[in-house]
Amino acid sequence: MPERAKIPRRNAGNNLEGAQLMTYVPPEPLAWNFCPICGRQLEIRHDGESDRPHCAPCRRFYYRNPVPATCGFVRRGDGSLLLVQRGVEPCKGYWSLPGGFMELGETPGECIVRELREETGLDVSRVRLLGAQTKPSPINGAILVLGFVAEEWTGDLRSGSDVMNARFFAREERPDLAFTVHKDLLAIYDQEYA
Ligand SMILES: [Zn+2]
Repeated sequence: MPERAKIPRRNAGNNLEGAQLMTYVPPEPLAWNFCPICGRQLEIRHDGESDRPHCAPCRRFYYRNPVPATCGFVRRGDGSLLLVQRGVEPCKGYWSLPGGFMELGETPGECIVRELREETGLDVSRVRLLGAQTKPSPINGAILVLGFVAEEWTGDLRSGSDVMNARFFAREERPDLAFTVHKDLLAIYDQEYA
């Protein structure tokens, strides 16, 4: 049996042409075992609320929190919505909203403006927070995604970093999205822009 027959198709509407149909094995979930400052093995200690990994010499508890990310809703005058085909794992080859993880030192609004420029070449000058959703993530524990609507934007669309394709879709021709958290935010968007 050919290798690709083992890969479940998430939906018939997804265009996987050109996508790498490899079985992706995500890395182990993040865990605190050793202190990243001094390198000692961590011990479990109660912080007043829960038992958590702790380094006594560094006087520091280590926490696992959702990782913040952003995604963007860019629409044209005809109501079509911008989606990108992912060029990296996880879900390489599947379509998603453009966006990515926040860097230290930037605001959520700055994050989505940067991600849109990197992934699609578009310059967004005004964004509005649409909503926030969180979901478990096998790699990060959980992610917190802030969805922004691009209210003013310019530029010529291109496929930028981490993206193999970028295009606008009418509502009825949209492919299924790779991530549940994006689907939830898209439902909020569709309610507001129905
Ligand atoms: Zn330490």
